[in-house]
Amino acid sequence: MYKLKRAKKPDILQEKSKEWTEHLIEKRKTEPFYFYWHIHEGKPLNHIIQEPLLEMTRSHCAFCDGFFEQSPVTIEHFKPKSIFPELAYEWNNLFPCCYTCQQKSDDYKDLLLKPDELEYEYEKYFYNDYVTGEIVPNPKALVKDMARAEYTIKVYNLIAEGRNQGRKRYKKHFDRDIKPDIDDYPYRYFMK
Ligand SMILES: [Zn+2]
Repeated sequence: MYKLKRAKKPDILQEKSKEWTEHLIEKRKTEPFYFYWHIHEGKPLNHIIQEPLLEMTRSHCAFCDGFFEQSPVTIEHFKPKSIFPELAYEWNNLFPCCYTCQQKSDDYKDLLLKPDELEYEYEKYFYNDYVTGEIVPNPKALVKDMARAEYTIKVYNLIAEGRNQGRKRYKKHFDRDIKPDIDDYPYRYFMK
């Protein structure tokens, strides 16, 4: 999970999120799964906010840091909207996410690491195993921080075999690249 700096909140959310959230909470009283991306000037909200979100991650998934080559861009509610409807239109809760990472369950524990949190640093929590391509909890981290790393790896399935192989492959390319631009690579945290 590559560290991110939260982009500026889009005007549309500044203007409308309060109204939409109140509407959602009201509707949820009778329809527990009610949610939709409102249409604004003919364009659905998820399409409107996708652009600044992808700008923030340089077109990477916010969780695995892969590109969206074989995956549609989805928008992930970091704290699930099923449990936190009050955060359904909250800018800080929204991330661009690949289809694989989106498959996580709707369970949520505060252990989960958030890539745009000010105090989040990849190296504090994770360690790269360049032999296997895996990322593992940093063995030198505090026990509570290791637990957070472990939970985050599990929730987003970050050590799926395809991802381990991908990290190893791209790292090789990166090391041979004479003038690498890190944003041209997936798994940027692995390119050190
Ligand atoms: Zn992903």
